[in-house]
Amino acid sequence: MIDIEKMFKEIGVIKEGHFLLHSGLHSGIYFEKFRLIEHPEYAIPLFELLASQFEGEPIDTVAGPTTGGSIIAFEVARVLRKRCIIAEKVEGGRDFLRGFGLKPDENILVVDDVLTTGASVKDVISAIKRYNANPYAVGVLIDRSNEIPDFGIPLYSVYRKRVENFNPEDCPLCKLGVPLTKPGGV
Ligand SMILES: [Zn+2]
Repeated sequence: MIDIEKMFKEIGVIKEGHFLLHSGLHSGIYFEKFRLIEHPEYAIPLFELLASQFEGEPIDTVAGPTTGGSIIAFEVARVLRKRCIIAEKVEGGRDFLRGFGLKPDENILVVDDVLTTGASVKDVISAIKRYNANPYAVGVLIDRSNEIPDFGIPLYSVYRKRVENFNPEDCPLCKLGVPLTKPGGV
């Protein structure tokens, strides 16, 4: 069995420091999911582990949000031999554009790379419900949520690490004077 945490540290998926998150909160740990996408030899066994959790379940389609989630959705759908659909950002949430059709009552597995607050997954679930399809379960590679979000359907994560986030005003790393970095693509 692979030591996921050790591998994540070695290839730079887990970064330690002082980070400004999208939410505006500060954290001592950042997950750079693109280090995993960069190394398919490490990523593929994790995608397969995620997919194997849902083997034999009555899933019709696998859905993921852009950007990283669409890669996970494609890979999990490939392993499970299901359809793959991608939810893109639109005003007020997410939607399945580009002609992805959803049938009423089809069971949809929602996947994503990193779960922090669960906002992207919630947007995908809302989009599925708008088409009267059925959000069946959620599968993520990394669950780094402080408090595991309740999606109203089962959640499975390949790797979970509870990470505490801080408001800037009571961030212990700010108090120690550790330089703040803004990771990610922006
Ligand atoms: Zn701070």
